[in-house]
Amino acid sequence: MVKCTICGVREAFFARLYSGERLCVKCFIESIENKVRATIAKHKMFEFNDRIAVAVSGGKDSLSLLHILARIERDFPRASLCAITVDEGIEGYRDEAVEIASENCRGLGVEHHILSFKDLYGYSLDEIVERIRRCRSGLTPCSYCGVLRRRAINLLARKIGATKIATAHNLDDEIQTFILNIVHGDPLRVARTGPTFDEEEPGLIPRVKPLCEVLEKEITLYAYLRGIRFQENPCPYAGEALRNDVRNMLNRLEEKHPGTKYTVYRSAERIREMIRGSIPRITLNQCRICGEPTVGEICQVCQLLQKI
Ligand code: SF4
Ligand code: ZN
Repeated sequence: MVKCTICGVREAFFARLYSGERLCVKCFIESIENKVRATIAKHKMFEFNDRIAVAVSGGKDSLSLLHILARIERDFPRASLCAITVDEGIEGYRDEAVEIASENCRGLGVEHHILSFKDLYGYSLDEIVERIRRCRSGLTPCSYCGVLRRRAINLLARKIGATKIATAHNLDDEIQTFILNIVHGDPLRVARTGPTFDEEEPGLIPRVKPLCEVLEKEITLYAYLRGIRFQENPCPYAGEALRNDVRNMLNRLEEKHPGTKYTVYRSAERIREMIRGSIPRITLNQCRICGEPTVGEICQVCQLLQKI
């Protein structure tokens, strides 16, 4: 029997190749929760009196984040935790995910707030997809979904008085985005992404990513080991081809050279630190149509809605 590197007592079931550790179930679970706690402390993500809204989609990452924060909530004595879910309106997919999210919230005793695209914008994502296909705009469902969801999360968090939004981006998501920015010829964007969103802007609730230093594979394992029920089916519209290629490339590299993903992550962190101060601060205007904060005159949400 191979013993756990950490406790030295129980049988190891998982080999963490990038660190050489062999872990038992209990030490593995604790290692994930400790890592999240350390990430939160390192980036000073929460104040003790924050009201934290966890953006919960119903998938493994967001539900694991909710469970972990609920467990370590005692670290922030007066912080109150709640969950927010955006129902994009994807039949047979999001309806199931919303139900799973609600079930988890009930089990944890966390209040749950839901906002649908239909109520907010007048269209469900399914209806939007029908329209963009008809008018052949060349835009994908994900390009609408991402922008509209971001706005919906911010509005809902603001409405319920949240002071922070916690999203479940994991280390894989972060490094994929970093590489994609390079591929898209926008490397300086790395300065505006990262574990925290620290430029305070009126109307925008600051976002933090407590899972940003945990590998996707380990979060999935955590969810299974903790017995968290989550939605496993992929979205019927999923298919950002370039991101999938980057994901596969990074997975192949990690398999052949364990630790590569962390190295890429650290590189992004170092570049971000170096260039952050030299990037001019963007001043936001109010959108001429909806009044929400935007870089230009008309926000992306209103531009997209005008197209349909
Ligand atoms: Fe939205 Fe695209 Fe994600 Fe589906 S895959 S939920 S359409 S962003
Ligand atoms: Zn607008």
